[in-house]
Amino acid sequence: MTATVTNPVSTDQQAEALPGYNYAFLDEISKKAIRRSLLKAVALPGYQVPFGSRELPIARGWGTGGLQITLALIGAGDTVKVIDQGEDDSVNAVNIRRLVERTAPDVTTTTETGTATIIQTRHRVPEQPLREDQILVLQVPLPEPLRLVERREAETRRMHGEADYSRMWVALYEDIVQNGRLTRAAGYPALVNGRHVMTPSPIPRWDLPQLHMSQHLSLFGAGREKRIYAVPPLTSVVPLSFEDYPFTIEQFGDRACARCGSTTSFLVAIPNEDGSVEYSCSDSDWCYSRIDAQEHGTA
Ligand SMILES: [Zn+2]
Repeated sequence: MTATVTNPVSTDQQAEALPGYNYAFLDEISKKAIRRSLLKAVALPGYQVPFGSRELPIARGWGTGGLQITLALIGAGDTVKVIDQGEDDSVNAVNIRRLVERTAPDVTTTTETGTATIIQTRHRVPEQPLREDQILVLQVPLPEPLRLVERREAETRRMHGEADYSRMWVALYEDIVQNGRLTRAAGYPALVNGRHVMTPSPIPRWDLPQLHMSQHLSLFGAGREKRIYAVPPLTSVVPLSFEDYPFTIEQFGDRACARCGSTTSFLVAIPNEDGSVEYSCSDSDWCYSRIDAQEHGTA
């Protein structure tokens, strides 16, 4: 354990404002249209609402769906956190945060999960449970959970409309027959509010229970596929599974984070030069908060 580990991301200095651009980059009509789609998505939990995905100064596939939701929601007094695979300091997360800082000067940014009002994320849900005054915005590459069993868009819309998920169940059954267990690791399909099957975006199975009957609102944006969907607070999110093959989260045995010692967080493997492997928390804020608390004797 080293005493010099500190969070490398400093948000004390906000990036310089970018003059000549709309507040939060998008024009007001676009933001209003996105908010209308969000309201519909909240009213129909798990239902994929089409929206007119706008061009942004980042390529589609790099989080434009989530970013459009964030930009449509932020206003004075908001505090935004952006994470990529749990990290605040990846290139993608840093650049999205800078765009927010430069086009919405009255919005602050943070790396602390607890102080954020809006958390935009790719591939992870923060370990720390979110509150009812926080919104989680997830970047979604592939919003259609039925795409694996049906390639025609019109047919997937019909299947959702009639709650005809039989082929999804058959695919899960075949997975068990072929592999002896449910092998789907990320983006595990779940039934939302007892009605629509959704993909929770490529989050690990570990994170899926965090969306079930949660206090916070979860919003999902797929920019390239032009779809928005939502899980409102206190809504059931039930992973598809069988009675004799229940849904399970990833198991890490007796492994602990090499930095903070956590045994209750989602761990990622970090290979060492000598070929050995160390594990550390995927959620960097969770890890740094624990190290900080240990150094100050509050843990
Ligand atoms: Zn850790």
